[in-house]
Amino acid sequence: MKYSEQFQVRPGSEIGLNKIDPDYTDEHTKKKLAVKEIKKLDRKLRELQYLLYAENKRSLLICLQALDAAGKDGTINHVLGSMNPQGARVHGFKAPSQEEAQHDFLWRVEQQVPKRGEVVIFNRSQYEDVLVVRVHKLVPKKVWKRRYQLINDFEQNLFENGTHILKFFLHISPEEQLQRFRQRLDDPARHWKISYNDYAERELWDEYISAYEEAIHKTSKKHAPWFIIPANNKWFRNLAVARIVAETLAPLGMQFPKPTVNIKEIAHEYHQAELEEEKKDKGNKKGGKSASKSNGAKKSDRATEHVKEKQFSEASESAEDPTAVIGAQ
Ligand code: ATP
Ligand code: MG
Repeated sequence: MKYSEQFQVRPGSEIGLNKIDPDYTDEHTKKKLAVKEIKKLDRKLRELQYLLYAENKRSLLICLQALDAAGKDGTINHVLGSMNPQGARVHGFKAPSQEEAQHDFLWRVEQQVPKRGEVVIFNRSQYEDVLVVRVHKLVPKKVWKRRYQLINDFEQNLFENGTHILKFFLHISPEEQLQRFRQRLDDPARHWKISYNDYAERELWDEYISAYEEAIHKTSKKHAPWFIIPANNKWFRNLAVARIVAETLAPLGMQFPKPTVNIKEIAHEYHQAELEEEKKDKGNKKGGKSASKSNGAKKSDRATEHVKEKQFSEASESAEDPTAVIGAQ
């Protein structure tokens, strides 16, 4: 079954997070056995993102939400790490600045949505305004209650303007969270991450879970679905998120733009000498077979193909030659 179906919250369905196993890893019993698939997915993601960027017609917004230490940073590192930084970025939402607080809650979010061709990951998002704000009673109930509809309208508008939206809740257990806080104590490189606030927020676990359950229930839509990702195992979390992103982008039928120049003409005008040279070399290697077969038309066709290939591999050098898989899709 596709992970984009298996982990998706169907619109209108009630959520019981305590019924979802954060240790779930599907058929992958061990990280070691999943490594090959994760690597393959990384390459696929890179190809799809390159295509999205080149096509420049639509965009992708990924909202990441979770309790502390559930792995937002790790997920971002993994998903963005497989993409070309040109055309992919992350934006984190903290407590609103003075200026942000003087506007409606969506003001700061609107400024960060992806433009065409871009992938943007929100590290926390518009949802903080129905989560932390609710748990800490930062605004009256009647204010945050109305925000579900405002968020739905906002996301609908984005979708109608070509933005695909995927929202992930990284689901860990309180025991796993405590264990991860504990591990930070042993690692001086992560001491800076430790805060009293994380321990204080942990005391509010049940309130956060209720807030998440309602928010996910009220805002999981066909065009902007929520996914609940079992996240006690970091490698499975990465695998599941990457797979859902790939499953969303792959069927979109994205296409490279048509060349804006006459490729044959360019080959003929600027590369004739090199192409002839390369052809001779090849001909020599094959014992002159190809040279004897060629006529004028075949020559120019091969020259054109060669230039196309060369152009594409230069353009996508950093994308580890996406043609290989894109062509095979
Ligand atoms: P890390 O994993 O590094 O701790 P983080 O996302 O928890 O990452 P922090 O700087 O620890 O980053 O926390 C940001 C804080 O800002 C969170 O506690 C979050 O709930 C809070 N926040 C985000 N948006 C809002 C908002 N609209 N109103 C109030 N608080 C918010
Ligand atoms: Mg934090």
